[in-house]
Amino acid sequence: MHRIVIVGGGAGGLELATRLGNRLGKPGRAHVTLVDRCAVHVWKPLLHEVAAGSLDTHAHEIAYAAHAHWNGFTFVHGEMTALDRASRSVKIGPMFESDDSDAEVLPPRGLEYDTLVLALGSRTHFFGVPGAEEHAIALDTLEQAERLRKRLLQVCLRKRAHGTTETNEAVDIAIIGGGATGVELAAELRRMEHTLKQFRLLSESPRAAMRISLLERGDRVLPALAQRVSDTTRDTLEKMNIAVKVSTSVTSVRPESVEVAGGVSIPADITIWAAGIRAPGVLASLDGIAVNHINQVKVTPSLQSETDANIFALGDCASCAWTADVLVPPRAQAAHQQAMFLCKALGARIEGRAIGAFMYKDHGSLVSLGSPTAVGSVAGITSTGKFFVEGFMAKLMYAALYRKHLVAVSGLRRTVFGLAAHGLGRLLAPRVKLH
Ligand SMILES: Cc1cc2nc3c(=O)[nH]c(=O)nc-3n(C[C@H](O)[C@H](O)[C@H](O)COP(=O)(O)OP(=O)(O)OC[C@H]3O[C@@H](n4cnc5c(N)ncnc54)[C@H](O)[C@@H]3O)c2cc1C
Repeated sequence: MHRIVIVGGGAGGLELATRLGNRLGKPGRAHVTLVDRCAVHVWKPLLHEVAAGSLDTHAHEIAYAAHAHWNGFTFVHGEMTALDRASRSVKIGPMFESDDSDAEVLPPRGLEYDTLVLALGSRTHFFGVPGAEEHAIALDTLEQAERLRKRLLQVCLRKRAHGTTETNEAVDIAIIGGGATGVELAAELRRMEHTLKQFRLLSESPRAAMRISLLERGDRVLPALAQRVSDTTRDTLEKMNIAVKVSTSVTSVRPESVEVAGGVSIPADITIWAAGIRAPGVLASLDGIAVNHINQVKVTPSLQSETDANIFALGDCASCAWTADVLVPPRAQAAHQQAMFLCKALGARIEGRAIGAFMYKDHGSLVSLGSPTAVGSVAGITSTGKFFVEGFMAKLMYAALYRKHLVAVSGLRRTVFGLAAHGLGRLLAPRVKLH
């Protein structure tokens, strides 16, 4: 039987494994395997909500092993470390009891494939800024988002207990990067502050506020989106008392401050780096597979590696041309569209039919500005242009994106029951996770 191995069960990889498992795995037309270094999937665009405590991950995790069983594919828990193209084998590193332990749970393993799909996503790019990797927190994984949340709670508690002056009662937070991740996190933290004050985990004194600075190197926030979206976002953030500093280049990050060009120092109890991505370094060492300057696998229009036609790549880790000089952007909607394309393409490949070319359709972008508002521009149903949308309607459309992902991977019934159970649970719990 044809063996399809997908490495990375994120926004694109999990959807592809689910679709292929049901379409080819269940009827016995192919053996589909998903490899991920984590045991559970959480949709990455939710991570800023996890970091701000407004989303309890347990209610939104999908356990790969159970999901695989229900959807006709096999799950292998482990991290891809190398590739042998001659023997068509993915190398999976050993698994240890924990990150700090050398007690081995599983030894290194090999996994043979006929078709390999790389869907490893991306990591934060620190651009070599001194101190950034050591002192700033990134938002790439569930662990990092949880770490940030706990750190925020600890700093708030410390300030509450020891703060006596305006300077040491306030919690200074610097967010580097005025793209969607930085903007959404800044807005979400304001909501967290409100709840912490409500439960007296942060002093109710006006001077004990979270002082949030959003630093962007370009001349506007959300530089990839329309000017009107940027302007509305900036106005909304400023009304939320978030200091938006554009044309601000960070030169170094220190344990308690961020230094910017011009010699200015911005105090920061917590620094979050949300400025740029690159694909995982392992891709640059995969048996000669061609990658670009940020480790993305260079693919042809059919999403096949330029080096090896048995290897495909999708999502953030693929360097895929959109127009002559623009790449498909690293977004969940791109990963979703590529998963849909590959589901059909791999079916055709197994039957020996032609694959065709992937065409990215930009349906627009929505950015959450806390509850209950969002802003963005979305493609019209009938026209090719985009229309501006903001407020509650935009928030509903934003929320629908995650529902769409859930329906794609879990089906309508499981999604409806899951969200209903989660909604009921929220009635009984604080709005922010406090432990
Ligand atoms: C805070 C935040 C907010 C965002 N908001 C939006 C948004 O509103 N809209 C939007 O379109 N996009 C958004 N994005 C971007 C979006 O999340 C990504 O574009 C999307 O998740 C990419 O999907 P992917 O399948 O390529 O990779 P991912 O979803 O990142 O999944 C990669 C998977 O690969 C696994 N993996 C990595 N390396 C290995 C390895 N060596 N071995 C095994 N497994 C491995 C990881 O564990 C992970 O499960 C946001 C991103 C962030 C961080």
